[in-house]
Amino acid sequence: MSDQHGKAGKRSNFPLPLSSVTGAPAKAPGYAPARVATPQTATQNAARTAVQAPYTPPRQTGTPSKAHTSALQRAQPAVAAPPRPDLLVSDAIRQAMVARVARQGVQDRVVLAALGTVPRHAFIEPALSAQAYIDASLPIGHNQTISQPYIVARMIEVMRNGAQLNRVLEIGTGCGYQAAVLACVAQDVYSIERIKPLHELAKTNLRPLRIANLRLHYGDGMLGLPQAAPFDGIILAAAGLEVPQALLEQLNIGGRLVAPVGARVQHLQLITRVGKSEWTRDTLEDCHFVPLRPGTA
Ligand code: SAH
Repeated sequence: MSDQHGKAGKRSNFPLPLSSVTGAPAKAPGYAPARVATPQTATQNAARTAVQAPYTPPRQTGTPSKAHTSALQRAQPAVAAPPRPDLLVSDAIRQAMVARVARQGVQDRVVLAALGTVPRHAFIEPALSAQAYIDASLPIGHNQTISQPYIVARMIEVMRNGAQLNRVLEIGTGCGYQAAVLACVAQDVYSIERIKPLHELAKTNLRPLRIANLRLHYGDGMLGLPQAAPFDGIILAAAGLEVPQALLEQLNIGGRLVAPVGARVQHLQLITRVGKSEWTRDTLEDCHFVPLRPGTA
């Protein structure tokens, strides 16, 4: 039922050249604010003609955490290759995305640094990869979406709360993007997906990145992952009417869970475990996610 990543494999290609995904260098980024992440709007986002935006130099995004550095260092080739123009293009576009997410209010430098590291274009189908760095959710197949960069960063910021995270669980791997970002900020990351082809897609997307501290599981995330619990942080990438009790029980005391909650109207909720049988709940901003569903498909 479960798969592990990054323990084997050949020399790293990290970060992936954009040309390996698109077959061509990236276009300039478009800015298309979209806070709603339904498959329908994701499709519209994908179809929208990107507005050309000037490149904005990145803000100082701080240094990655220890877990982040070590995971990436393992992925680097021993001898640095000369810079390639296509890599520089995708890096510049990604840094512009980071600067935009910072302007939208994300302040955690560790999270911003992680966002600046993970090649989002490598998680998006080639036909859409020119839009990989716009501020929008995009379709990933099976009626699901890759979340908007802002919301990915915001949820991790809220979960992290400036602290070092050891063990983190994500429910809803999708294409694997948020899991890769999480692997930059936490020591060990587990991610569960209920749709088998998406679980396989995430494996394919993540394999070249050789992220040693990320483990993907196929199964119903509403049950959590008791064999790896307790977790310092849990993120749900899909919205339920309430947060499953099993997940609350799998939080460490002091651990923080961030989840979209609701149906048509959804809010981000932060749940903190403050004692053995005690949790606090904060309601944060509006959001819109695909639904959390039971069982596997
Ligand atoms: N984390 C992704 C977002 C994927 S969309 C990103 O990086 O952008 C949300 C995902 O949650 C979908 O792939 C959906 O299949 C999955 N999902 C919904 N209910 C689930 C459940 N009970 N267990 C595991 N995954 C679930």
